[in-house]
Amino acid sequence: MYNETGFIRENILMVDVKGWRYKHTTSSYVIIGDEIAIIEPGNKSSAKEILNALNEFGIDKEKVKYIFVSHRHADHAGGSSELIKELKNAKIFAHEYTLKILMDPEKLNRATVEMYGEFGEPMDPVLDKSRLVEIHDGEEIDLGKGIKILAIHTPGHTSDHFMFFEERNSFLFTGDGMGLFSNGKVLPNSFPPSFKFNSYIESIEKVRKLNPRILGFAHFGSIENGAIIENAIKITYEWKEIIEKMKEKDAESIGNFLYENYGMDFNLFSPDLRKYIFIILAQGFLNGLDK
Ligand SMILES: [Zn+2]
Repeated sequence: MYNETGFIRENILMVDVKGWRYKHTTSSYVIIGDEIAIIEPGNKSSAKEILNALNEFGIDKEKVKYIFVSHRHADHAGGSSELIKELKNAKIFAHEYTLKILMDPEKLNRATVEMYGEFGEPMDPVLDKSRLVEIHDGEEIDLGKGIKILAIHTPGHTSDHFMFFEERNSFLFTGDGMGLFSNGKVLPNSFPPSFKFNSYIESIEKVRKLNPRILGFAHFGSIENGAIIENAIKITYEWKEIIEKMKEKDAESIGNFLYENYGMDFNLFSPDLRKYIFIILAQGFLNGLDK
């Protein structure tokens, strides 16, 4: 398991970007070929953590050409505008809808602050359209030195979600599409309002076929695959069963039940936010149960 900022493969650097204003909650990745890619800008305040890591590890900022964003949420796309200010040769690569939100994040920002209060960091818009590039399912970007990044459309957590696969290291960057990973365990990443159970499972099955050796979660850290993908599927069905049984209750009671049963070794997010996160996850799951 990899939980600290540092190289986890010869050409893959993991950075704890202190997303959600807390350590060990969001990880971004830097992939180094002849050209350099960043996966996940994180929150707006995470951008400086990435830039610091580039300095600390002596990585040439001029060579950063690609910034991949897994989906529209502010804790993933939020660092984009800050990053491209400093990384002059980089462009943002994401789903068409993610780019739309990046150009005009107003509505999403309002929802984020409403739901998460002081932890919900609004993002700045990216106004220069020439820095935004749409990616498509199955597209492959060659960084040189045998490092290629495959973009895989994986809806479910959101409709615009992409995972990224680096073939040489058999490394899958899961974004929010595989779950929330903490203490060796994975939980469904069912944040509202766009979670859809059926597409979420289908997307996990889609990337399972790649048989990745290592998984890099956005929340949080990396781990050799082993049984993690199977566990991600199993736990998502387990929650489905629980939530179907409790469906007549409100999200708060379901969230509290989930927190009592699955929250004990869940260390992501600030401790005073954790119980609330389970209520939010319950709400998203309830909403996406039959979708
Ligand atoms: Zn998300």
